[in-house]
Amino acid sequence: MNLREIYNTPNTPIISFEFFPPKNDIDGSKTENLLKEISFLKKYSPAFVSLTHGASGYNSDLALSLIKNIKEVIGFNVMPHFTCICAKKTDVDSRLKMLETLGIENILALRGDIPTDRTLCANDFKFANELVSYIKSQSNFSIAVAGYPQGHCECVDLKTDIDNLKRKVDAGADAIITQLFFDNDRYWRYVERVRNVGINIPIIPGIMPVVNSRQIEKILSVMKVDIPSILRNNEDNIFELGVEFATKQCQELINSGVSGIHFYTLNKSDAVSKILDNIGKR
Ligand code: FAD
Repeated sequence: MNLREIYNTPNTPIISFEFFPPKNDIDGSKTENLLKEISFLKKYSPAFVSLTHGASGYNSDLALSLIKNIKEVIGFNVMPHFTCICAKKTDVDSRLKMLETLGIENILALRGDIPTDRTLCANDFKFANELVSYIKSQSNFSIAVAGYPQGHCECVDLKTDIDNLKRKVDAGADAIITQLFFDNDRYWRYVERVRNVGINIPIIPGIMPVVNSRQIEKILSVMKVDIPSILRNNEDNIFELGVEFATKQCQELINSGVSGIHFYTLNKSDAVSKILDNIGKR
């Protein structure tokens, strides 16, 4: 099922999960554990599972075998992420062919973070809108793109960032998945501003339950995202608090009519599973 069909079904909210391929998996045990975590979420009938893609380094054999396993063994629709800042058109061509062969229908098209070593950048794509146009010109994939309720960290202001988001939508994107956020009002203000520039595709909130303090440091180091003090000052029971916070956030978003929720799982199913049980989603 492609993204247009997925977000057109009346059975909302559409649930989806993000995972990432494990690093340095010498004996294959990390991959095996990851597949168990993903399988555990089967009871929530996700519409798709998305699989991240390193902007400057990428193990294509691992990604390929993961996609195959998730799709053919677990039985989930898979949406691979696709970054372009370090990719040549020929790399994109061969990856598109490979995904077509696997029966993949959806791609999350991204620029990726600019690597510290700029010599790793290829010069075929500068921004994600160029990747969206290119994929559209070469294939029939349905495409999602990234949105930033607080603005992307490189952008001068939210207005410019939303104008740049529009370039991706005009190039052919079918859905927007947002960066994680903790303030639903900010999300709704963002949705309003995005609608005001004539963007009408689904804007799916990205939710990450914060369940340990390392995560908080990481978020703060790479993203422009405000983290509520309740999650920053309570190390002892951070798992329970993180689950409770995200449960409330999801429940409010659902009550206000979001068409879907995309969970950043960090490769663990326990917190997300508790949240989905709490909101009665099965
Ligand atoms: P773009 O849309 O190209 O935007 C990048 C910056 O350039 C923004 O500031 C934008 O305002 C500006 N801009 C955009 N287009 C133009 C233009 N035409 N002219 C001038 N300025 C422009 N990273 C990974 O490495 N791997 C992943 O798998 C991954 N998955 C992600 C999933 C989601 C849902 C999200 C929200 C982010 C993800 N990221 C991932 C992070 C993402 O790659 C970074 O945030 C990256 O810095 C920007 O990517 P983008 O596709 O949003 O870029």
